[in-house]
Amino acid sequence: MIFDYLARYDFRKVVLCHNADVGLKAVIAVHSTALGPACGGLRMWTYATEEEAIMDALRLGRGMTYKYAAAGVNLGGGKAVIIGDPKTQKTEALIRAMGRFIQSLHGEYKTGEDVGTTLDDMELLYQETEHVITLPEYCGGAGNIGPATAFGVQQAMKACAHEVWGSDSLQGRTITVQGLGAVGWPAVEGLVKEGARVIVADIDAAKVERAKRALGVTAVDPAGIHAHPCDIYGPYALGAVINDRTLPELNCKIVCGSANNQLAEERHGDLLHERGILYAPDYIANAGGTILDTDRIAQKGGFNRERAWRNVSRIRERMAELIDISKRERIPTSLAANRLAEQRLEMARQLRMI
Ligand code: NAD
Repeated sequence: MIFDYLARYDFRKVVLCHNADVGLKAVIAVHSTALGPACGGLRMWTYATEEEAIMDALRLGRGMTYKYAAAGVNLGGGKAVIIGDPKTQKTEALIRAMGRFIQSLHGEYKTGEDVGTTLDDMELLYQETEHVITLPEYCGGAGNIGPATAFGVQQAMKACAHEVWGSDSLQGRTITVQGLGAVGWPAVEGLVKEGARVIVADIDAAKVERAKRALGVTAVDPAGIHAHPCDIYGPYALGAVINDRTLPELNCKIVCGSANNQLAEERHGDLLHERGILYAPDYIANAGGTILDTDRIAQKGGFNRERAWRNVSRIRERMAELIDISKRERIPTSLAANRLAEQRLEMARQLRMI
């Protein structure tokens, strides 16, 4: 069945990694290298079966191809998973052994943080392989990517505002920000600077107080922020915030924020579309940090901050393009993102044929 799956979705390869001495059992799935080396995080998780681990790597690896392609990042898609409990089974030797397997692919797959792995693990991997994306600044990484993610989301909001109100200005717009973390905080700073009326919520009351004092925003109860009347609802905290319970309660024209996996299920994208709420697909809107982080790999000549930020600002054009596809093909924006990805992959195929 796995070979059928590889053929159906055109995978390049799957590598099974085994090292009994350190207890390593892992899978590396390389889906596509059409746009660049296959990239995607390294997950460590207690899978019930080996098949489940392989299928997770395959499914997530294919998702990364679409994510990078639609976000305009010149990278392919891949994913690696280590079978095991990160709390009890993670050792330096295990991580470094994994690093050697990644190195054996000579850059065909590049890794980063994911569920069950940390920046410290990335530093350990880096001792064995140069093919690590997410690194602290002192190892040559991009450092804190929250502000770039926030800036990218703001660009997506502008494209949405242009579609809904005919002007991309956010001045005077009421925008709710759910979550004042590494992305939510700089997001509020950027929106306040642009003259938006920002309403925030966070389960951490101290952060809310600080935001009220430092940024002059107002706050509402975190349990009800999705339903608060506003122009733009910005999820900047958790996933699955658009679900059967919250969707009928939304009181906005646009949903646009940084949180990953905002739609509880794919069909919630269709339901937003039916309700006439413009949705900025999360992985398009929140690609700013990734664009900054991967600049040194996806582009030529090493990390260039100016170029990276310019590319982050292009999220606005990408979101506008996506809205056009959605209108032309009469499909929700959540599906139009797939079309955008497929167009870029087709472009890469044509380039290869020249
Ligand atoms: P973070 O952990 O720094 O911040 C999350 C904030 O949300 C915290 O302040 C937390 O208290 C708050 N929160 C948690 N539950 C809440 C609730 N029910 N209501 C209101 N607030 C709540 O995380 P982050 O790095 O800012 O990322 C936020 C989201 O954006 C996540 O979904 C993340 O996956 C996604 N994302 C982040 C980046 C990045 O650059 N850091 C890039 C892409 C996507």
